[in-house]
Amino acid sequence: MALKPDRDRQTIAALLRADGPLSRGAIHARTGIRLSATSDLVRQLLADGRITEAGTEPGDRGRKGVILGLNENYRSVVAIEFDDESVTAGVTNLAPEIQHLFTEPTKTSGGRPALLRQLRRLTRRALDAATAPPIGIGIADPGLVDSRRGITLTSSTLPFWRDVALREILSREFGLPVTLESRTRAKAVAERDPAATTSIYIDYGAGIGAGIYLDGRLVYGETGAAGEFGHMCVQPNGPRCACGARGCLEAVAGLRANIGARKIAAWLGLGLANLVNLFNPGVIVIDARLACHGQTFLNQISAAIERHALREAASQVRIRYARITAGAGVLGLADMIIGEYFNTPTEFTP
Ligand SMILES: [Zn+2]
Repeated sequence: MALKPDRDRQTIAALLRADGPLSRGAIHARTGIRLSATSDLVRQLLADGRITEAGTEPGDRGRKGVILGLNENYRSVVAIEFDDESVTAGVTNLAPEIQHLFTEPTKTSGGRPALLRQLRRLTRRALDAATAPPIGIGIADPGLVDSRRGITLTSSTLPFWRDVALREILSREFGLPVTLESRTRAKAVAERDPAATTSIYIDYGAGIGAGIYLDGRLVYGETGAAGEFGHMCVQPNGPRCACGARGCLEAVAGLRANIGARKIAAWLGLGLANLVNLFNPGVIVIDARLACHGQTFLNQISAAIERHALREAASQVRIRYARITAGAGVLGLADMIIGEYFNTPTEFTP
């Protein structure tokens, strides 16, 4: 069981992350830890470099109080995102802000062993680049992922990528906690809109996926398969999809369908109209790779949604492009790992 001072130090660090910078008095008031104990704990946290003096606030009778903030560079996170086109490895601090980012084309020709080698090599490279001790490793996988078990079940764009126990493989090799997440959900975290309780991020490539925030929570479903938007049937007698079914959205309108922007907008809009009716999102964020089609493309999607969805839901939704053009999956993973780290009762020591 965690010792109380450890717990209290972690509580203070988590508070400063959420609401800092704060004075010792404000920390005492918010946490209920005695003022004298707060001062001792703050001194220890400062000595360890976990928090920093972030300035002064004007106090009564001209006495200035020091305010304290989290040292965001005290620890780092290493995260990898990949799909059938590229692998990106990154290092972030605890903000999270990206400090290093490496990208290379995905090794798809050597099957599973070659891709595993590439992921391990890039993880190693990112770990070597990290200047602060990492609290964990994140992997954003393009396939259907069981995050709880840490296994990639299947991928429609990488046929050899099935039943890969990625979490176990990497945690054994690097001796750090590993978070396995779907790349779409990781991007949805990075692109979520604090103003909307329900928002949807749409990933577009050879595969199409949706990361869904419903009432402030990321949606997983029973086995993690929620959000497989690309396999929504939009044309029952349409072309055969990699999943075996016919007329899936990604078979009809994904990158490999090779159709024009106008048609992509019409099919995406049709699919999104169904999501709008189901989830009533405030915001839909469209993959940055489609941003080259400009506002016209978004207007066409909106028009399709207005045509097919209920007015009550359709009138509420804002549609925009993703704002993070590189490393969105890395940032989303870092966000999740950091959130988990500050939620645990004591600091994980790497
Ligand atoms: Zn399909």
